[in-house]
Amino acid sequence: MTSPLAQDLADFSTRLLSQDLDQRLQSVVAAYAGQRIVFSTSLGAEDQLVTEVIARLKLPIDIFTLETGRLFAETLSLLDETEQHYNIHIQRFRPDPQALKAYVDHYGLNGFYDSIELRKQCCGIRKVEPLNRALSGADIWITGLRQQQSAFRQNLDFLQQDRDRQLIKFNPLLDWTQEQLWQTLKARQVPVNPLHNKGYPSIGCEPCTRAIKPGEDERAGRWWWENPQQSQQECGLHVAQPCSNNEGNQNDTKANP
Ligand code: SF4
Repeated sequence: MTSPLAQDLADFSTRLLSQDLDQRLQSVVAAYAGQRIVFSTSLGAEDQLVTEVIARLKLPIDIFTLETGRLFAETLSLLDETEQHYNIHIQRFRPDPQALKAYVDHYGLNGFYDSIELRKQCCGIRKVEPLNRALSGADIWITGLRQQQSAFRQNLDFLQQDRDRQLIKFNPLLDWTQEQLWQTLKARQVPVNPLHNKGYPSIGCEPCTRAIKPGEDERAGRWWWENPQQSQQECGLHVAQPCSNNEGNQNDTKANP
């Protein structure tokens, strides 16, 4: 896909601001008709709502998830339940077996607790490389990111260019509040992960996710043993790459499963 102008994306983002979620997704599908649009779901609450819209409106969007091998049993059950509930297929992308074996042989199954570097290596093998495979050939990548989720997600826009992956990232729930999200999920009877009711607003791999305490950041339960200022509590799927030109920041300055 030819790189869109930064101003075009900014103008489109401004138009999306006044639209509801259905309209936002429909607008992007119409604007990028004929191009490959994919949605990555971690089966989290936000992603479940986006899946509901895609399924209900029968939008031409491929849905995939990263099956890391360390997910909660509840998440895996929800994956099957969601497919049955909406009569859709969610493609699974798994880690490269050889890379995974080499990591585990060298550092152990839970080597990620030993350092931020080893944690990022594990995320790289179990998430980032499979994600890059899943996004290969895609033009638009839809996420369920919201600004309210963490300080690192404040600077996102609805549409922004991911130069490293040569695609456009679309965050249709960006300005949604947690209250708005849960009201809508309940009203539409969307299946959600039972762990949300046990203090897990953000759910990733089981050994790297804990329940949060009242008042904590929504992502405080992710990689809780790390210093958040050093790790950004992100797994590398959405973290910014330095912007090397003067067109403004088209990558995330903040940005799962
Ligand atoms: S979240 Fe934890 S288990 Fe999952 S890929 Fe990252 S380090 Fe590995």
